[in-house]
Amino acid sequence: MIIVESIEQLSHNPFKSPFALIPTMGNLHSGHINLLNLASNKNYNPVVSIFVNPLQFGPSEDLETYPRSLEQDLEILKEHNCHGVFVPKQEEILKNIENLIAPMSNKLCSKSRPGHFDGVITIVNRLFEVTKPEACVFGMKDFQQQLIIKHLIRQKKYEIEFLSAPTERDKNGLALSSRNNYLQEREKIEASVIFKSLSDMGSELKLLSQTNKKNFLTELESIQKKYTKKIEEQGFEIDYLELSDPETLEKFEFNSNRILIAIAVFFKKVRLIDNLVIDLASS
Ligand code: AMP
Repeated sequence: MIIVESIEQLSHNPFKSPFALIPTMGNLHSGHINLLNLASNKNYNPVVSIFVNPLQFGPSEDLETYPRSLEQDLEILKEHNCHGVFVPKQEEILKNIENLIAPMSNKLCSKSRPGHFDGVITIVNRLFEVTKPEACVFGMKDFQQQLIIKHLIRQKKYEIEFLSAPTERDKNGLALSSRNNYLQEREKIEASVIFKSLSDMGSELKLLSQTNKKNFLTELESIQKKYTKKIEEQGFEIDYLELSDPETLEKFEFNSNRILIAIAVFFKKVRLIDNLVIDLASS
């Protein structure tokens, strides 16, 4: 496994083409490994970057305490036959960086984390510029992030294939996340209510679209309210629970057959996100 720690080393093209860049903040779990496997299955050499991006954390967020486990991460990557790893130094990445503004600034996570996606695309753009990958892999768990990176690739006219990996969950349905480390085992089980609610909402929406098309949008709002209440009653503080168009993140108005159910909650002071895309046309 090739480990690169500086931009200077990248100028010698250490990674074998074609390779896919998989940007991460480390503290790797099997969700990240799925991204790596997807790259390999698509015949790209997987290259994982590990960089805790300070620009994507708000002033009152957990930059200082964000879990870091570099040695263990490198072991895991080696075990999974990762081709390369890029572990840049913060000063080098931030030096003379082009600060970018992300689109969709009034949607979902952008509303409660102002500047978060500006930080994300600024760093991802920098990683693309210095590593020059042929493909990149991002996870569905961060749905809005995926849309924003796709926008970046179009805007900058990068010839980078975008690969999307499905969300990896624990056996109870909780989406894997480095922030789950902040929760006790019992709390992780309680947090499985999030995905259970999304799944139940999805089934209700599907049924409704097949039986009551006329009142769909009104009923949709009452389903949204019902689940907001249900989730809150179980000790979660809802940041948002929205039903949106998965292409634009606009409020769902039946312009498409696909509906995005996206949620962010605070549970025991930990912010957790998840989402589900429902195809109303399929049976
Ligand atoms: P992070 O290290 O949390 O910044 O995530 C790095 C990449 O892994 C992003 O593309 C995430 O969407 C993806 N990712 C994180 N958790 C999961 C998961 N449970 N399933 C699939 N992809 C994930």
